[in-house]
Amino acid sequence: MDMKADVAIVGGGLAGCLAALRFSIAKPELEVVLVESSDRLGGHHTWSFHESDLSAESLEWIKPLADHSWTETSVAFPRLQREFKGAYHTLRSETLHDKVKSRIKTVLLNSKAKRLSESHVELENGDIIASRCVLDARGVASLNTASATGYQKFIGFDLLLEEPHGLKHPVIMDATCPQLDGFRFFYLLPFDEKRVLVEETYYSDTPELNRERIARSIESYAERRGWKIAKREREEEGVLPIPMTSEYITNSLGGEALPIGMRGGYFHATTGYSFADAVRIAEFLSSLEDVTTQAARDGLMKFRRSFISRQRFYRLLNRLLFQASEPSLRYTVMQHFYELQQDVVERFYAGRTTWGDRLRILSGRPPVPLERALKSLSERSLQSRAGSAR
Ligand SMILES: Cc1cc2nc3c(=O)[nH]c(=O)nc-3n(C[C@H](O)[C@H](O)[C@H](O)COP(=O)(O)OP(=O)(O)OC[C@H]3O[C@@H](n4cnc5c(N)ncnc54)[C@H](O)[C@@H]3O)c2cc1C
Repeated sequence: MDMKADVAIVGGGLAGCLAALRFSIAKPELEVVLVESSDRLGGHHTWSFHESDLSAESLEWIKPLADHSWTETSVAFPRLQREFKGAYHTLRSETLHDKVKSRIKTVLLNSKAKRLSESHVELENGDIIASRCVLDARGVASLNTASATGYQKFIGFDLLLEEPHGLKHPVIMDATCPQLDGFRFFYLLPFDEKRVLVEETYYSDTPELNRERIARSIESYAERRGWKIAKREREEEGVLPIPMTSEYITNSLGGEALPIGMRGGYFHATTGYSFADAVRIAEFLSSLEDVTTQAARDGLMKFRRSFISRQRFYRLLNRLLFQASEPSLRYTVMQHFYELQQDVVERFYAGRTTWGDRLRILSGRPPVPLERALKSLSERSLQSRAGSAR
Protein backbone atom coordinates (compact mmCIF):
# COMPACT_ATOMS: atom_id res chain seq x y z
CA MET A 1 0.00 0.00 0.00
CA ASP A 2 1.60 3.30 -1.01
CA MET A 3 1.45 6.27 1.37
CA LYS A 4 2.14 9.99 1.57
CA ALA A 5 3.84 11.75 4.49
CA ASP A 6 5.38 15.07 5.41
CA VAL A 7 8.25 13.38 7.24
CA ALA A 8 9.33 9.76 6.81
CA ILE A 9 11.75 8.53 9.47
CA VAL A 10 13.46 5.24 8.73
CA GLY A 11 14.69 3.50 11.90
CA GLY A 12 12.69 3.51 15.12
CA GLY A 13 15.68 3.54 17.46
CA LEU A 14 16.66 6.36 19.78
CA ALA A 15 17.23 9.08 17.16
CA GLY A 16 14.21 8.19 15.02
CA CYS A 17 11.87 8.00 18.01
CA LEU A 18 13.08 11.27 19.54
CA ALA A 19 12.74 13.04 16.19
CA ALA A 20 9.19 11.68 15.77
CA LEU A 21 8.23 12.72 19.31
CA ARG A 22 9.66 16.19 18.90
CA PHE A 23 7.79 16.71 15.62
CA SER A 24 4.59 15.67 17.38
CA ILE A 25 5.20 18.37 20.02
CA ALA A 26 6.50 21.21 17.86
CA LYS A 27 4.66 20.57 14.59
CA PRO A 28 1.64 18.37 15.34
CA GLU A 29 0.10 19.26 11.99
CA LEU A 30 2.77 17.26 10.10
CA GLU A 31 2.07 13.70 9.02
CA VAL A 32 5.02 11.71 10.40
CA VAL A 33 5.60 8.08 9.41
CA LEU A 34 8.08 6.04 11.45
CA VAL A 35 9.41 2.88 9.78
CA GLU A 36 11.04 0.16 11.89
CA SER A 37 12.30 -3.21 10.70
CA SER A 38 11.86 -5.03 14.02
CA ASP A 39 8.68 -5.69 15.96
CA ARG A 40 9.49 -3.05 18.61
CA LEU A 41 10.75 0.50 18.74
CA GLY A 42 14.00 1.22 20.53
CA GLY A 43 15.48 -2.29 20.68
CA HIS A 44 16.69 -3.36 24.14
CA HIS A 45 18.50 -0.41 25.58
CA THR A 46 18.88 1.54 28.77
CA TRP A 47 19.84 5.06 27.74
CA SER A 48 21.25 7.35 30.40
CA PHE A 49 22.23 11.00 30.42
CA HIS A 50 23.44 13.60 32.87
CA GLU A 51 21.06 16.49 33.44
CA SER A 52 23.99 18.81 32.61
CA ASP A 53 24.18 17.28 29.09
CA LEU A 54 21.01 19.11 28.05
CA SER A 55 19.63 22.64 28.03
CA ALA A 56 16.66 23.66 30.19
CA GLU A 57 14.44 23.69 27.06
CA SER A 58 15.47 20.15 26.16
CA LEU A 59 14.93 18.89 29.69
CA GLU A 60 11.37 20.15 29.57
CA TRP A 61 10.30 17.53 27.04
CA ILE A 62 12.94 14.87 27.75
CA LYS A 63 12.67 14.54 31.54
CA PRO A 64 9.05 13.32 31.42
CA LEU A 65 10.29 10.38 29.31
CA ALA A 66 12.74 9.19 31.99
CA ASP A 67 12.04 5.98 33.91
CA HIS A 68 14.49 6.66 36.74
CA SER A 69 16.30 9.71 38.06
CA TRP A 70 18.98 10.07 40.74
CA THR A 71 20.58 13.11 42.32
CA GLU A 72 24.20 11.92 42.32
CA THR A 73 26.61 9.43 40.77
CA SER A 74 30.01 8.03 41.67
CA VAL A 75 33.13 6.46 40.17
CA ALA A 76 35.66 4.07 41.72
CA PHE A 77 39.23 3.44 40.53
CA PRO A 78 42.21 1.84 42.27
CA ARG A 79 43.42 5.29 43.43
CA LEU A 80 40.18 7.25 43.37
CA GLN A 81 36.71 7.06 44.89
CA ARG A 82 34.55 10.06 44.07
CA GLU A 83 30.94 11.18 44.22
CA PHE A 84 29.44 13.76 41.88
CA LYS A 85 26.40 15.85 42.74
CA GLY A 86 24.07 16.36 39.78
CA ALA A 87 21.03 14.58 38.39
CA TYR A 88 21.33 11.50 36.20
CA HIS A 89 18.40 10.06 34.27
CA THR A 90 17.63 6.81 32.53
CA LEU A 91 15.16 6.00 29.79
CA ARG A 92 14.42 2.42 28.80
CA SER A 93 13.43 1.27 25.34
CA GLU A 94 10.18 -0.28 26.58
CA THR A 95 9.04 3.17 27.77
CA LEU A 96 10.16 4.86 24.57
CA HIS A 97 8.22 2.27 22.57
CA ASP A 98 5.02 2.92 24.53
CA LYS A 99 5.31 6.71 24.47
CA VAL A 100 6.03 6.87 20.75
CA LYS A 101 3.28 4.39 19.90
CA SER A 102 0.78 6.44 21.85
CA ARG A 103 1.75 9.76 20.20
CA ILE A 104 2.65 8.90 16.62
CA LYS A 105 -0.26 7.84 14.47
CA THR A 106 1.67 5.97 11.80
CA VAL A 107 4.31 3.59 13.12
CA LEU A 108 5.13 0.78 10.71
CA LEU A 109 6.71 -2.11 12.63
CA ASN A 110 8.20 -5.20 10.94
CA SER A 111 8.81 -2.97 7.93
CA LYS A 112 12.29 -2.98 6.49
CA ALA A 113 13.26 -0.14 4.18
CA LYS A 114 15.08 -1.26 1.05
CA ARG A 115 15.82 2.04 -0.66
CA LEU A 116 15.81 5.64 0.56
CA SER A 117 15.87 8.74 -1.60
CA GLU A 118 15.35 12.44 -0.92
CA SER A 119 11.60 12.06 -1.45
CA HIS A 120 10.74 8.35 -1.19
CA VAL A 121 11.17 5.27 0.94
CA GLU A 122 10.77 1.89 -0.65
CA LEU A 123 9.99 -0.97 1.71
CA GLU A 124 11.07 -4.55 1.15
CA ASN A 125 7.46 -5.56 0.55
CA GLY A 126 7.36 -3.12 -2.37
CA ASP A 127 5.30 -0.38 -0.66
CA ILE A 128 6.40 3.18 -1.36
CA ILE A 129 6.19 6.14 1.03
CA ALA A 130 6.37 9.52 -0.72
CA SER A 131 7.58 12.21 1.67
CA ARG A 132 8.88 15.81 1.51
CA CYS A 133 11.49 14.95 4.14
CA VAL A 134 13.23 11.57 4.49
CA LEU A 135 15.41 10.96 7.55
CA ASP A 136 17.75 7.98 7.73
CA ALA A 137 17.95 6.85 11.39
CA ARG A 138 19.01 3.26 10.76
CA GLY A 139 21.78 3.27 13.39
CA VAL A 140 25.51 2.54 12.98
CA ALA A 141 26.18 1.69 9.35
CA SER A 142 29.16 -0.54 10.08
CA LEU A 143 31.57 -0.96 12.96
CA ASN A 144 34.46 -0.74 10.52
CA THR A 145 33.85 2.63 8.91
CA ALA A 146 36.92 4.18 10.52
CA SER A 147 40.43 3.11 9.67
CA ALA A 148 41.38 3.18 13.33
CA THR A 149 38.69 2.26 15.80
CA GLY A 150 38.56 0.94 19.31
CA TYR A 151 35.38 -0.54 20.72
CA GLN A 152 33.26 0.01 23.75
CA LYS A 153 31.57 -3.33 24.30
CA PHE A 154 29.30 -4.34 27.11
CA ILE A 155 26.71 -6.72 28.45
CA GLY A 156 24.26 -5.71 31.16
CA PHE A 157 21.92 -7.79 33.31
CA ASP A 158 18.99 -6.48 35.32
CA LEU A 159 19.39 -8.44 38.53
CA LEU A 160 16.74 -9.00 41.15
CA LEU A 161 18.56 -9.68 44.43
CA GLU A 162 17.42 -11.61 47.47
CA GLU A 163 18.41 -8.77 49.81
CA PRO A 164 18.72 -4.98 49.29
CA HIS A 165 21.92 -4.07 47.43
CA GLY A 166 22.56 -0.95 49.52
CA LEU A 167 23.42 1.32 46.56
CA LYS A 168 21.98 4.83 46.78
CA HIS A 169 22.92 6.08 43.33
CA PRO A 170 24.42 4.94 39.99
CA VAL A 171 28.07 3.94 39.81
CA ILE A 172 29.22 5.20 36.42
CA MET A 173 32.48 3.26 36.52
CA ASP A 174 33.73 0.76 39.05
CA ALA A 175 37.20 0.07 37.66
CA THR A 176 38.58 -1.52 40.82
CA CYS A 177 38.39 -4.91 39.08
CA PRO A 178 41.33 -6.66 37.35
CA GLN A 179 42.00 -4.98 34.00
CA LEU A 180 41.50 -7.44 31.14
CA ASP A 181 40.92 -6.90 27.40
CA GLY A 182 41.65 -3.17 27.71
CA PHE A 183 39.93 -0.78 30.12
CA ARG A 184 37.36 -2.79 32.08
CA PHE A 185 34.73 -1.55 34.49
CA PHE A 186 31.29 -2.24 35.90
CA TYR A 187 28.37 0.18 35.52
CA LEU A 188 25.61 -0.03 38.12
CA LEU A 189 22.10 1.43 38.06
CA PRO A 190 20.05 0.77 41.18
CA PHE A 191 16.38 0.80 40.08
CA ASP A 192 14.85 -0.09 43.44
CA GLU A 193 16.24 -1.51 46.64
CA LYS A 194 16.61 -5.03 45.27
CA ARG A 195 16.90 -4.38 41.54
CA VAL A 196 20.15 -3.30 39.90
CA LEU A 197 21.48 -3.19 36.36
CA VAL A 198 25.04 -4.52 36.36
CA GLU A 199 26.85 -3.89 33.10
CA GLU A 200 30.37 -5.06 32.40
CA THR A 201 32.13 -2.79 29.91
CA TYR A 202 35.41 -2.98 28.03
CA TYR A 203 37.29 -0.38 26.00
CA SER A 204 38.84 -3.02 23.83
CA ASP A 205 40.80 -3.40 20.59
CA THR A 206 38.34 -6.00 19.32
CA PRO A 207 34.54 -6.00 18.92
CA GLU A 208 33.96 -9.61 19.98
CA LEU A 209 31.86 -10.19 23.10
CA ASN A 210 32.53 -13.35 25.05
CA ARG A 211 28.99 -13.72 26.42
CA GLU A 212 29.61 -16.76 28.60
CA ARG A 213 32.69 -15.30 30.23
CA ILE A 214 30.99 -11.95 30.85
CA ALA A 215 27.90 -13.67 32.32
CA ARG A 216 30.16 -15.53 34.76
CA SER A 217 32.10 -12.42 35.60
CA ILE A 218 28.94 -10.37 36.32
CA GLU A 219 27.87 -13.15 38.67
CA SER A 220 31.19 -13.15 40.49
CA TYR A 221 31.11 -9.34 40.70
CA ALA A 222 27.70 -9.57 42.40
CA GLU A 223 29.09 -12.22 44.72
CA ARG A 224 32.10 -10.05 45.63
CA ARG A 225 29.65 -7.32 46.63
CA GLY A 226 27.83 -9.83 48.81
CA TRP A 227 24.74 -9.88 46.58
CA LYS A 228 22.70 -13.06 46.10
CA ILE A 229 20.97 -13.13 42.71
CA ALA A 230 17.32 -14.24 42.83
CA LYS A 231 16.68 -13.72 39.14
CA ARG A 232 18.17 -12.28 35.95
CA GLU A 233 15.22 -10.23 34.63
CA ARG A 234 16.52 -8.60 31.46
CA GLU A 235 19.64 -8.37 29.32
CA GLU A 236 21.14 -5.91 26.94
CA GLU A 237 24.39 -5.65 25.06
CA GLY A 238 26.20 -3.36 22.70
CA VAL A 239 29.36 -2.79 20.72
CA LEU A 240 29.99 0.86 19.95
CA PRO A 241 32.77 2.24 17.76
CA ILE A 242 35.31 4.46 19.53
CA PRO A 243 36.92 6.23 16.56
CA MET A 244 40.47 7.55 16.55
CA THR A 245 40.36 9.26 13.16
CA SER A 246 37.73 11.30 11.34
CA GLU A 247 36.83 8.92 8.52
CA TYR A 248 33.72 7.65 10.27
CA ILE A 249 32.19 11.08 10.21
CA THR A 250 33.34 12.23 6.78
CA ASN A 251 31.88 8.97 5.44
CA SER A 252 28.54 9.46 7.18
CA LEU A 253 27.06 12.29 5.12
CA GLY A 254 24.78 9.68 3.65
CA GLY A 255 23.04 9.36 0.31
CA GLU A 256 19.94 11.23 -0.68
CA ALA A 257 18.06 10.85 2.60
CA LEU A 258 19.40 12.82 5.56
CA PRO A 259 21.25 10.66 8.14
CA ILE A 260 20.62 11.40 11.81
CA GLY A 261 21.64 9.63 15.04
CA MET A 262 24.53 7.14 14.92
CA ARG A 263 23.91 6.84 11.15
CA GLY A 264 25.10 10.42 10.71
CA GLY A 265 28.08 9.93 13.03
CA TYR A 266 26.38 11.99 15.76
CA PHE A 267 27.82 10.43 18.87
CA HIS A 268 30.42 11.38 21.46
CA ALA A 269 33.62 9.83 20.13
CA THR A 270 34.93 8.83 23.58
CA THR A 271 31.79 7.72 25.42
CA GLY A 272 30.02 6.37 22.32
CA TYR A 273 26.87 8.07 23.62
CA SER A 274 24.42 9.69 21.22
CA PHE A 275 21.53 10.73 23.46
CA ALA A 276 22.28 14.47 23.77
CA ASP A 277 22.95 14.95 20.07
CA ALA A 278 19.81 13.01 19.13
CA VAL A 279 17.83 15.45 21.31
CA ARG A 280 19.51 18.51 19.77
CA ILE A 281 18.98 17.27 16.21
CA ALA A 282 15.32 16.41 16.91
CA GLU A 283 14.81 19.96 18.19
CA PHE A 284 16.59 21.50 15.25
CA LEU A 285 14.63 19.53 12.64
CA SER A 286 11.28 20.32 14.20
CA SER A 287 12.14 24.02 14.32
CA LEU A 288 12.57 24.29 10.54
CA GLU A 289 10.00 26.48 8.85
CA ASP A 290 9.88 24.35 5.74
CA VAL A 291 10.53 20.71 6.53
CA THR A 292 12.10 19.16 3.43
CA THR A 293 15.11 16.85 3.11
CA GLN A 294 17.13 19.58 1.41
CA ALA A 295 16.24 22.31 3.92
CA ALA A 296 17.06 19.96 6.79
CA ARG A 297 20.39 19.01 5.22
CA ASP A 298 21.35 22.64 4.56
CA GLY A 299 20.31 23.74 8.03
CA LEU A 300 22.09 20.88 9.76
CA MET A 301 25.40 21.72 8.04
CA LYS A 302 26.28 24.44 10.58
CA PHE A 303 25.51 22.11 13.49
CA ARG A 304 27.53 19.38 11.78
CA ARG A 305 30.60 21.57 11.25
CA SER A 306 30.69 22.58 14.89
CA PHE A 307 29.97 18.99 15.98
CA ILE A 308 32.89 17.68 13.89
CA SER A 309 35.24 20.28 15.24
CA ARG A 310 34.25 19.51 18.87
CA GLN A 311 34.76 15.79 18.32
CA ARG A 312 38.38 16.28 17.23
CA PHE A 313 39.55 16.51 20.85
CA TYR A 314 37.67 13.35 21.87
CA ARG A 315 39.35 11.41 19.07
CA LEU A 316 42.71 12.64 20.37
CA LEU A 317 41.74 11.30 23.79
CA ASN A 318 40.81 7.99 22.17
CA ARG A 319 44.26 7.79 20.62
CA LEU A 320 45.79 8.43 24.02
CA LEU A 321 43.56 5.76 25.49
CA PHE A 322 44.12 3.12 22.84
CA GLN A 323 47.49 3.89 21.30
CA ALA A 324 49.60 5.47 24.00
CA SER A 325 48.81 3.27 26.94
CA GLU A 326 49.25 -0.43 27.53
CA PRO A 327 45.77 -2.02 27.50
CA SER A 328 46.08 -2.93 31.17
CA LEU A 329 46.94 0.71 32.03
CA ARG A 330 44.17 2.37 30.00
CA TYR A 331 42.22 2.94 33.18
CA THR A 332 44.85 5.46 34.36
CA VAL A 333 43.76 7.90 31.63
CA MET A 334 40.18 7.82 32.96
CA GLN A 335 41.29 7.85 36.59
CA HIS A 336 43.29 11.02 35.88
CA PHE A 337 40.26 12.54 34.12
CA TYR A 338 37.88 11.91 37.04
CA GLU A 339 40.24 13.72 39.41
CA LEU A 340 39.46 16.99 37.62
CA GLN A 341 36.92 19.63 38.68
CA GLN A 342 33.31 18.57 38.33
CA ASP A 343 32.46 21.22 35.72
CA VAL A 344 35.27 19.92 33.47
CA VAL A 345 33.82 16.40 33.77
CA GLU A 346 30.29 17.69 33.04
CA ARG A 347 31.35 19.59 29.93
CA PHE A 348 33.21 16.50 28.72
CA TYR A 349 30.06 14.36 28.92
CA ALA A 350 27.99 17.07 27.26
CA GLY A 351 30.53 17.27 24.41
CA ARG A 352 31.24 20.92 25.26
CA THR A 353 34.85 20.67 26.42
CA THR A 354 36.53 24.10 26.32
CA TRP A 355 40.15 24.89 25.43
CA GLY A 356 40.90 25.37 29.14
CA ASP A 357 39.36 21.97 29.88
CA ARG A 358 41.51 20.37 27.19
CA LEU A 359 44.65 21.65 28.85
CA ARG A 360 43.46 20.39 32.23
CA ILE A 361 42.61 16.97 30.81
CA LEU A 362 45.96 16.62 29.03
CA SER A 363 48.20 18.19 31.66
CA GLY A 364 49.27 17.20 35.14
CA ARG A 365 50.93 13.90 35.88
CA PRO A 366 51.04 12.28 32.42
CA PRO A 367 48.88 9.20 32.72
CA VAL A 368 50.73 7.55 29.81
CA PRO A 369 54.41 7.50 28.72
CA LEU A 370 55.19 10.83 27.08
CA GLU A 371 57.00 9.40 24.04
CA ARG A 372 54.10 7.12 23.09
CA ALA A 373 51.63 9.89 23.83
CA LEU A 374 53.38 12.24 21.41
CA LYS A 375 53.40 9.58 18.71
CA SER A 376 49.68 9.08 19.09
CA LEU A 377 48.85 12.78 18.89
CA SER A 378 48.70 13.03 15.12
CA GLU A 379 45.46 11.85 13.59
CA ARG A 380 46.94 12.07 10.10
CA SER A 381 49.87 9.74 10.84
CA LEU A 382 47.49 7.20 12.38
CA GLN A 383 45.20 7.46 9.37
CA SER A 384 48.07 6.85 6.96
CA ARG A 385 49.51 4.03 9.13
CA ALA A 386 46.11 2.35 9.13
CA GLY A 387 45.75 2.96 5.40
CA SER A 388 49.07 1.30 4.57
CA ALA A 389 48.24 -1.65 6.85
CA ARG A 390 45.03 -2.34 4.88
C1 LIG B 1 22.59 -1.46 24.94
C2 LIG B 1 23.04 -0.03 24.63
C3 LIG B 1 22.99 0.95 25.62
C4 LIG B 1 23.37 2.25 25.34
N1 LIG B 1 23.32 3.19 26.32
C5 LIG B 1 23.52 4.48 26.02
C6 LIG B 1 23.34 5.50 27.00
O1 LIG B 1 23.11 5.19 28.18
N2 LIG B 1 23.42 6.81 26.64
C7 LIG B 1 23.72 7.16 25.34
O2 LIG B 1 23.75 8.35 25.02
N3 LIG B 1 24.00 6.22 24.43
C8 LIG B 1 23.89 4.90 24.71
N4 LIG B 1 24.11 3.96 23.75
C9 LIG B 1 24.70 4.38 22.47
C10 LIG B 1 23.68 5.00 21.48
O3 LIG B 1 23.09 6.14 22.03
C11 LIG B 1 22.60 4.00 21.12
O4 LIG B 1 23.21 3.00 20.34
C12 LIG B 1 21.40 4.58 20.37
O5 LIG B 1 20.39 3.64 20.41
C13 LIG B 1 21.70 4.97 18.94
O6 LIG B 1 20.54 5.52 18.39
P1 LIG B 1 20.19 5.45 16.84
O7 LIG B 1 18.76 5.81 16.73
O8 LIG B 1 21.18 6.21 16.06
O9 LIG B 1 20.37 3.90 16.45
P2 LIG B 1 19.55 2.67 16.97
O10 LIG B 1 18.99 2.95 18.31
O11 LIG B 1 20.45 1.51 16.80
O12 LIG B 1 18.32 2.57 15.99
C14 LIG B 1 18.40 2.17 14.66
C15 LIG B 1 17.06 1.53 14.32
O13 LIG B 1 16.93 1.36 12.92
C16 LIG B 1 16.32 0.14 12.64
N5 LIG B 1 16.66 -0.24 11.26
C17 LIG B 1 17.87 -0.59 10.77
N6 LIG B 1 17.80 -0.82 9.46
C18 LIG B 1 16.52 -0.58 9.09
C19 LIG B 1 15.83 -0.65 7.86
N7 LIG B 1 16.44 -1.00 6.71
N8 LIG B 1 14.50 -0.36 7.84
C20 LIG B 1 13.84 -0.01 8.97
N9 LIG B 1 14.46 0.07 10.18
C21 LIG B 1 15.77 -0.21 10.23
C22 LIG B 1 16.89 -0.79 13.71
O14 LIG B 1 16.09 -1.93 13.90
C23 LIG B 1 16.90 0.14 14.91
O15 LIG B 1 15.70 0.07 15.66
C24 LIG B 1 23.80 2.61 24.02
C25 LIG B 1 23.89 1.62 23.05
C26 LIG B 1 23.53 0.32 23.34
C27 LIG B 1 23.66 -0.73 22.24
